[in-house]
Amino acid sequence: MEGTIFDIKHFAVHDGPGIRQTIFFKGCPLRCWWCHNPESQNPKPEKYIRTNKLDGKEFKKETEIGYRVTIEELFQTIQGDKIFFEESGGGVTFSGGEPLLQADFLYKILGLCKNDGIHSCVDTTGFASLRTIQRIAELTDCFLYDIKITDNNLHEKFTGVPVHGIIENLKWLDQNNKNVILRFPVIPGITYTKKNITKIKLLLQSLKNINQIDLLPYHNISNGKYNRFKIENKMKDTKPLSDEEMLKIKTEFESVGFKVGIGG
Ligand code: SF4
Repeated sequence: MEGTIFDIKHFAVHDGPGIRQTIFFKGCPLRCWWCHNPESQNPKPEKYIRTNKLDGKEFKKETEIGYRVTIEELFQTIQGDKIFFEESGGGVTFSGGEPLLQADFLYKILGLCKNDGIHSCVDTTGFASLRTIQRIAELTDCFLYDIKITDNNLHEKFTGVPVHGIIENLKWLDQNNKNVILRFPVIPGITYTKKNITKIKLLLQSLKNINQIDLLPYHNISNGKYNRFKIENKMKDTKPLSDEEMLKIKTEFESVGFKVGIGG
């Protein structure tokens, strides 16, 4: 069996506990306005022209992003970092894009990791069927689960998909006591509005077992990628929030009993 990925990051420290290997799956059903990885959205490998400058001259080269990989090849790469996982309490994180878009491939690789004692996290939007979430929950040790906007119309406007199912899946994970760390991308004027923060707090309060959330600050760093992949960047003039504003949100979420981190 093969899957499509677009990157592997070794020695990652923000994608779950300890030192991790993060595997980026290609393909995402969402189209978030603030996406830092627009090259992850298309599920197929894509060609683009990379421009490098040297001594005032420009050099163009056709490059491909995304490649097919077999379960065996990928598992071998994961095992290559096992010593670092063991030393640090780390493991492998499947991210994207949206890894649940390749659920069968993910399920198989998670099974191999579990059998080999390798800790795994799945970094997800939660946009999948409940059955898919339940299958993956059988095998992964932890979900890193995005929660962005609670209003359905606004969620659809800014991400391209409705939020109902995402919240229902989250409630199932909570009721079944699965290990979940929430992630909240703090996007000025979109997720960071008084109304949305109030509603997110209500959602957090309604959860019985999940009690950890990481705030992901917005960074305007992806302009070049948008140009390269000919995708409109609707956020190019948006400024990141200050440290004080981030601390304010941290305090707000702590007030409902959550452990809050800044950065993922
Ligand atoms: S869910 Fe993540 S990868 Fe998908 S469009 Fe949104 S920010 Fe990009």
